Amino acid sequence: MHSIDSREQAMKKETAPLILIVEDEVRLAALVADYLKAAGYRVHHLDTGPPVLDWIRAARPALILLDLMLPGKDGLTVCREVRAEYQIPIIMTTARVEEIDRLLGLELGADDYVCKPYSPRELVARVKAVLRRTHAPCKPETSSPLILLADRLRVRADSREIELTAVEFALLETLHSVPGRIFSRDHLMDRIYRDHRVVSDRTIDSHVKKLRRKLAELLPGRELIHAVYGAGYRYEEQPTATGEQTQG
Ligand code: CA
Repeated sequence: MHSIDSREQAMKKETAPLILIVEDEVRLAALVADYLKAAGYRVHHLDTGPPVLDWIRAARPALILLDLMLPGKDGLTVCREVRAEYQIPIIMTTARVEEIDRLLGLELGADDYVCKPYSPRELVARVKAVLRRTHAPCKPETSSPLILLADRLRVRADSREIELTAVEFALLETLHSVPGRIFSRDHLMDRIYRDHRVVSDRTIDSHVKKLRRKLAELLPGRELIHAVYGAGYRYEEQPTATGEQTQG
């Protein structure tokens, strides 16, 4: 019985997606690796930039967690080099939240950006979301149309910009951080009102309504924020010609 179990486990291990962690903070990498393994992934860790490309050529990971500040060769360069050859999903991690806007502006082609310190659990959720998205069959060809400019509370699409209130921006930033993920109203309230002010669900709904109206001005005909009945809201860039009605 034990041998069958372990053989099954071994087979599962061989077919589990392989995640490459490129991170020079060894303890953080070990922690993340533990969480990823617990979630059923195989993991490999590199702590500098230079060996990354050769390793990828040899091992073809399913996803790369790539730190921005690395010894030897920085994450930006590594990301560009990988992208020049492979479509492997990349999640970039950075210690500075203000870096994320700059990274987005550089259009590196990373699939997600996560700011440190992050919870390993949240990171695993992002890994799953990115893998789900990138492996989705018949994925519609949509590149994220929005660039969030946190320092100015503005959002850009194509070459146009609109201004948001702090609350609208926080809402959009949260939803946009994990496309496809449903955020409950409670979760959104926690993110937005850090002083734990008591606000009703209606307040969130009314802010979302205003945010949607502004986004509709920016990108007419694109529905980006979707109400999920009984659950909350999610951000998703779907083609709109599906005839699906969105609430709001
Ligand atoms: Ca680093």
